[in-house]
Amino acid sequence: MSDSGDMFGDTPPEKPAEGDAADARPTAAELEAAGQNSMFGDLAPAPGPAPAPADPAAPALAPSSPEPAEAARPSRPEASQPYRVLARKYRPQTFSELIGQEPMVRTLANAIKRDRLAHAFLMTGVRGVGKTSTARLIAKALNCIGPDGQGGPTIDPCGTCEPCRAIAEGRHIDVIEMDAASHTGINDIREIIEAVRYAAVSARYKIYIIDEVHMLSTPAFNGLLKTLEEPPAHVKFLFATTEVDKLPVTVLSRTQRFDLRRISPEMLQQHFASVCRQEGVGAEDEALHLIAAAAEGSVRDGLSILDQAIAHADLDLDGPEQAPQVTASRVRDMLGLADKGAQRRLFACLLEGDAKGLLAALDDQYALGVEPLALMRTLLELTNRITVAQVGGSGADAPTAEERAVIDGWTGQLSPGQLHRLWQLLLKGYDEVRSAPDPLVAAQMALLRTLHAADLPDPGTLAKTLEDMAARAAANPAPSVAGADAPAPAARAIEWADLVRDLEQQSGQLHLASRLRMQVRPVSVAHGTLTYEQAPGFGDDLASDIRQGLFELTGERWQVERVETGGAPSLYEIEQAEQAAAEERLRAHPLVEATLAAFPDAVMLSEEDDAGAPPWSRRA
Ligand SMILES: [Zn+2]
Repeated sequence: MSDSGDMFGDTPPEKPAEGDAADARPTAAELEAAGQNSMFGDLAPAPGPAPAPADPAAPALAPSSPEPAEAARPSRPEASQPYRVLARKYRPQTFSELIGQEPMVRTLANAIKRDRLAHAFLMTGVRGVGKTSTARLIAKALNCIGPDGQGGPTIDPCGTCEPCRAIAEGRHIDVIEMDAASHTGINDIREIIEAVRYAAVSARYKIYIIDEVHMLSTPAFNGLLKTLEEPPAHVKFLFATTEVDKLPVTVLSRTQRFDLRRISPEMLQQHFASVCRQEGVGAEDEALHLIAAAAEGSVRDGLSILDQAIAHADLDLDGPEQAPQVTASRVRDMLGLADKGAQRRLFACLLEGDAKGLLAALDDQYALGVEPLALMRTLLELTNRITVAQVGGSGADAPTAEERAVIDGWTGQLSPGQLHRLWQLLLKGYDEVRSAPDPLVAAQMALLRTLHAADLPDPGTLAKTLEDMAARAAANPAPSVAGADAPAPAARAIEWADLVRDLEQQSGQLHLASRLRMQVRPVSVAHGTLTYEQAPGFGDDLASDIRQGLFELTGERWQVERVETGGAPSLYEIEQAEQAAAEERLRAHPLVEATLAAFPDAVMLSEEDDAGAPPWSRRA
């Protein structure tokens, strides 16, 4: 008798056949469903086969799922048994099955061993990390009497004794579960407060599990508080909440708090792999990785997605003898994710300058329903991962060996400068795609621009090259000056330039010098005489100012005459023309052409604009 009991008790998920048989008993199943429905209002699984995706991050799987899933179920080998959603079937029955919460379990084990249990526990954490599962496990731990009926509280509840089984099935009379989301008022709490006075019916402890406890109204909290202050020895409260900040500090201070951690994607992936094994379903590593990533730390959400994926896998079967296989491509379709492999190929086209391949890959992705914006985001992510992998030097973090290898390859090929430029180009492209009337066209343009810029040297090298070119340009000034329609005698212009410079530097007439540079087109400059044409657009009478200024500079009276035509370009015009010519030569260089094509918003800035600018250019 005890043998069979042990065998039965050891079943949990490892031996699904037996477990299923037991769980198929209508009363237990109904009870559990009832218990869990009240506790997991957000899971909302119609007892039907296909659970609605609880995860809002997976909206794209909505359209195709429910009906095919329903159609698929009957073809399953175990079709005769009532189907249970995985999140319930694989609810942990022991603390060792509770994944990712080892620190909490250790603390709890110590407290139980030393008989230092608080009267009230508070489980906090994001949805689906196992708060209510933990609460039930604690209830079992406290009330377990062991297979022989003699055991005390233990961190390893046997799972076979009547209290353990009753709690697992949600039918233990002394373990009361309440969802505070739907019982927020003082009257609901008053019932508890009344009942607390009576001893447990059959168990060691009377245990109240209150889920989403932060939803209680203030009067309800106040009512509860009195009981929490002086709880009868036989009563334990187990609270669970996603929003611990909303709990009154008076309540917080009377509970032992356990912060349940968000479960890492790696751990989730392992867990899902084990679930698949137990379900007799094959699964690609990448598929499980995708599901684990979409679950965002929640076992329950992940299992809901896995449920759907298995339903799809059933649907894909050709014959009844095959084992269903959860494939990455199916999961991607379900989750509305793009094919990583195709995206890597697109990325490769981008880096290798294969414009045709790039456009074809983009079209393929678009045809598959991948939004251009999502694609840009994926490329950004890829760039980020390569960059991070490069810094870390410890290999890429990727779900598949194939992807790791590819990313590692790029890590070796690309310089940090190239990666950062790639990031900026893609980020700019992302913004454009987001705001463009036609995202596909915008994505094409942005990616082509990125492609053309991708083989440029990194910005450091680029800057150096530009510097060298600028230096060369300065060493060989433009042979002819644009705008010099008159046969400007160069020598005279230089004399004029000397004169203006002397005005400025020797006699400090900065303002006059600036006006001369802007306005005066010298016709003839000789000792004591100046003939000039005024540059168009200026109306002020310069002559007397010039006379005055030159007198101050030279101590002599100058004859200054303004004429209508025949002037050489003003110093300012010469400067402008030289700059334009130099810029033109720079622009014509293939490297700069490519840069400007890549950064359409870029403006060529002369370094002199900041540093050694001739003073008139700013003062004029
Ligand atoms: Zn037990």
